[in-house]
Amino acid sequence: MENKRKIEKARQHLLNEILACTKCRPCIEKEILWYNPHTDLDDLLFDFEMKEQEWKTILYGLKCPNCYEPFETQYDLVEIKSDYDHSVEETFTKLKNKNIVKKLYDFNKFISEYPYLGLSSSSIIGTNLFNSIKKGKIYTIDSDIWYRARKFNNESKLFSSDEMWAPDPQEVFIRISLKVLVF
Ligand SMILES: [Zn+2]
Repeated sequence: MENKRKIEKARQHLLNEILACTKCRPCIEKEILWYNPHTDLDDLLFDFEMKEQEWKTILYGLKCPNCYEPFETQYDLVEIKSDYDHSVEETFTKLKNKNIVKKLYDFNKFISEYPYLGLSSSSIIGTNLFNSIKKGKIYTIDSDIWYRARKFNNESKLFSSDEMWAPDPQEVFIRISLKVLVF
């Protein structure tokens, strides 16, 4: 006899932890490029001590919350939330004002996608952060190393180090020098 409550709790735990699966993360030379920690479904439900029949029940209709592809076995690999993700969620849970929580989520999404453009987000959070930081002590960085990065997805190719240099100014129409605040 299956314990329906246990199954539902386990399903919710999976959906709360999983961020992506092997079908929605890029693959380079047969290696999945995970953005966060990864494990398999079985490991995620280790404490639930799932029986074989319970696994069959829980896998029925269970889909990746990111790409909606169905999972096939309890050993399917999945990307999961990091400790940082959990601490952010915990902080948000403590906040009573849902309007602020929504603004923080939106700003977090924006800054994750456009890390250099915090001041241009529609939220006032970027401006408030900038104004707060301005009041702090100013440090000058004399020597530093900057890295170029590209968002990687299934359509991207893997660039060599030679291809990651700054573009040729003769071939680029607009070069803008920006003084930016990096969050
Ligand atoms: Zn997926």
